[in-house]
Amino acid sequence: MNSWPHVGVVGGSLGGLTAALVLRDLGCEVDVFERSSTALKARGAGIATHPSTTRYFEESSELDASLVEIELPWLQFLSASGELVYQERMNYRFSSWTTVYRGLKGAFGDRRYHLDSEVVDFEQDARGVTVRFADGSTRTLDLLVCADGISSTARMKLLPGAGTRYAGYVAWRAMIPESDLEPASFEVLRDGLTYCVLPDGHVLVYPIPGLEGDLEPGRRLANLVCYHNYAEGDEIDDLMTDRSGERQALSLPPGAVRDEHVARFREFASEHMPPAMAEVFFKTSEPFVQVIYDIDVARMVFGRIALIGDAAFAVRPHAGAGTAKACEDAWTLRDALRDADGDPVAALARWEPGQLALGRRLLERTREMGDRSQFHHTWVPGDPSLRLGLYGPGR
Ligand SMILES: Cc1cc2nc3c(=O)[nH]c(=O)nc-3n(C[C@H](O)[C@H](O)[C@H](O)COP(=O)(O)OP(=O)(O)OC[C@H]3O[C@@H](n4cnc5c(N)ncnc54)[C@H](O)[C@@H]3O)c2cc1C
Repeated sequence: MNSWPHVGVVGGSLGGLTAALVLRDLGCEVDVFERSSTALKARGAGIATHPSTTRYFEESSELDASLVEIELPWLQFLSASGELVYQERMNYRFSSWTTVYRGLKGAFGDRRYHLDSEVVDFEQDARGVTVRFADGSTRTLDLLVCADGISSTARMKLLPGAGTRYAGYVAWRAMIPESDLEPASFEVLRDGLTYCVLPDGHVLVYPIPGLEGDLEPGRRLANLVCYHNYAEGDEIDDLMTDRSGERQALSLPPGAVRDEHVARFREFASEHMPPAMAEVFFKTSEPFVQVIYDIDVARMVFGRIALIGDAAFAVRPHAGAGTAKACEDAWTLRDALRDADGDPVAALARWEPGQLALGRRLLERTREMGDRSQFHHTWVPGDPSLRLGLYGPGR
């Protein structure tokens, strides 16, 4: 009989929870260590989903995949004045961070999901990895899966020089109940992933589940993402200085963006966005901002320690595949551990090449998509190379 390792997962978001569930189902004892001291709240709003994002819902007998995603029949582009300039049948799927998190967290339960457990350091030897927490306590595990996101403590320790590069732009994000939209705007936006190419960027709107998980048209949320350039230096520093005067590195949550920036972006939206899309921004009381980075890593495996999801490669969001990559890292890790009969070191060595290749391809593809949108102005409505997908456009 196999002896499955005791696994510690650092970070209890979508990548960490997927890893925790699939490794637990394989037979491992799994503990999740999450830095946040309170239950995680909605982050990142809408997400495009791919088969790996929701695979746990499909395969688990406890969860119902049909309650998680919205399937949209149309990919469409509007002009700035709101005319439909391109439309194609396309079955894209969308959900929200909250909806996916609620399902995965419910399946994992609370007992081994440890809040207020910030990992600050770790050491490994031939017998295991000893993790140290912010309160000074320690735990020793056979395998450590680090899913601690874009500002990963584990990456900083293991790969201090890992290439983190500001992409030159941010995502403005906004969300309103579909019921707040004018009827004409609702009709335009309800069945599609809707884009508009803007000067130096683009905007997209798609419906996502309502806050309580409602999937019915009219009871969902309209989710907007707009990519907008801010030059490195004073311009981005000023945007990212929040209401309390602190310069934030990664994001400004709802309520933190200074009024003058919201007002300036409103002006931009009213001048350049189709009315139905601008309406989503205008009616959002507290839009928020996420900075776009490229993070490239040369390794994902260090003996008994693996980096997964954004803790390894953080890619630009234009393929809608960051969460899908985190979940795919988790599923493939499960397969490697099963194939190595539970030997963590052999499993990780076997797992790493494929996930490095996937991360690099996605990073390159999304970097090119982003640069074409923001700096080269070569986005053309309907260009098949702009399709969402983890493994390639539309895949
Ligand atoms: C504008 C934008 C749009 C996006 N759209 C999409 C999309 O449509 N589809 C898609 O698939 N992806 C999308 N993404 C990407 C997606 O949000 C990320 O790739 C994904 O959330 C990464 O998941 P993760 O589990 O690796 O990390 P995260 O979700 O960042 O989670 C990391 C977790 O680790 C915890 N943590 C951090 N440090 C520690 C520590 N030291 N100890 C313990 N816990 C710690 C954090 O509190 C957090 O809970 C988008 C991203 C952006 C910016």
